Amino acid sequence: MKQKNFPTVRIFGVDYQLIFTPGLGISDEETTGGVISSNTDRPKIVVSTAEPIATQQETALHEIVHICDRASSGGRILSEKTVDRMGRAIYGAGRDNPGLFAWIFLAGIPKPILRVIFKNLLETDQ
Ligand SMILES: [Zn+2]
Repeated sequence: MKQKNFPTVRIFGVDYQLIFTPGLGISDEETTGGVISSNTDRPKIVVSTAEPIATQQETALHEIVHICDRASSGGRILSEKTVDRMGRAIYGAGRDNPGLFAWIFLAGIPKPILRVIFKNLLETDQ
């Protein structure tokens, strides 16, 4: 499976590399398919490609919720269960309402940038 990595995901002004890899390098007990490494010069979100694409997408969103929690509160406030529920709920709402989410996230973005975004997405094999 060929999959492009997104160069960066900016969250509260910090750029995280979003990396897709077959192995996370840590035990399954420590993760649900994704991991954040933020205590480095190059913060990153790593998502396992061992799962189906929908799980990878949900995992990336789950890790982003973790980062938002930490960045907005100065530490980890939300429980793993809460992060999991929020990630699943946002992911489900997005999948059920793609037009609404497209409007929320894409309205107002200049067309040349949208063309680049969608060209990169369409070139990604699933
Ligand atoms: Zn988690």
